[in-house]
Amino acid sequence: MFDSVVVDNLGRHLRDLRISVTDRCNFRCRYCMPRERFGEEHTFLPRRAYLSFDEIEKVVLACKPLGLEKVRITGGEPLLRPDLPDLVSKLSAAGVETALTTNASLLSDPAERLAEAGLDRVTVSLDALDPKTHAQMTDSNIPVEAVLDGIEAAVRAGLSPVKVNCVVQRGVNEGEISPLVRKFRGTGVTVRFIEYMDVGRTNGWQLGQVVPTADVIAYLKEEFELEPVDSQRPSDVARRWAHSDGSGEVGFISSVSEPFCGDCVRARLSADGRLHTCLFASGGHDLRAIIQNGADGEALSDAIAAIWSRRDDRYSELRSERTAVLPRVEMSYIGG
Ligand code: SF4
Repeated sequence: MFDSVVVDNLGRHLRDLRISVTDRCNFRCRYCMPRERFGEEHTFLPRRAYLSFDEIEKVVLACKPLGLEKVRITGGEPLLRPDLPDLVSKLSAAGVETALTTNASLLSDPAERLAEAGLDRVTVSLDALDPKTHAQMTDSNIPVEAVLDGIEAAVRAGLSPVKVNCVVQRGVNEGEISPLVRKFRGTGVTVRFIEYMDVGRTNGWQLGQVVPTADVIAYLKEEFELEPVDSQRPSDVARRWAHSDGSGEVGFISSVSEPFCGDCVRARLSADGRLHTCLFASGGHDLRAIIQNGADGEALSDAIAAIWSRRDDRYSELRSERTAVLPRVEMSYIGG
């Protein structure tokens, strides 16, 4: 049995597991699930193909002796998966830090139950406060108020620190940068600006649409007094800045201008049980077949250790014309 912490070919640990529990979503964010590719005719995974909550628990328990410390429940939109508090209580009982990434439009109702089940933290995707820009970016008629209500419910339920992730696209939502910081300053909610990424193969990404973090920081400094804060861990993806008056923080995730593959400790599990070793992977390893062929925890652990120990992904560091043509799984399938 492989019972010690596993490292990959670049000496990186397996510490975080992002678990997609559905490939469906009630939004059609242009940079993730553009409607022209994820419309009425799109074939989503059949629900019978989803890992059950027991099978997800098996994977998490098999990863623990390998060094797993944190899981993040994602989608698509994870709150579309029924009975999510049941999964949260299983993962919490497994002794791993449990977080959720959601668009929060469905969070108001289950927030308390998720907190009671043991959920530690919530990250909300929110790219605009302006109703028109929100509608344009999410390509949905679900109002931004539903997202803001979800954030309030998460704060009330103690799912803190609540983080708000905003993907900045040139010519689309730069005008939302300062309003988002003004909105959440002093509330304990941290806004993080993410550089637009060439995830998957459907969002038509162009480098020119990326607003580099350095530009966002310069822009914010015209209005706010911000100073850098040291990261707690090298593997933390966000670079932290704080308001000099102590009224909160702003974060920056710069996968394009400042790639952080060297410290990447993240694996991703798709809803149908395929383990991916990079957000920009071209495919994954079928753990579902291993589980359904009767493998016990030890055998599953060994299989995952073998996959991880062969890992050498560092797409963002190698991003180029050559990598641009490679097949890449969709972000909505492996959960960002
Ligand atoms: S590109 Fe892949 S290896 Fe690099 S940080 Fe992102 S997920 Fe990790």
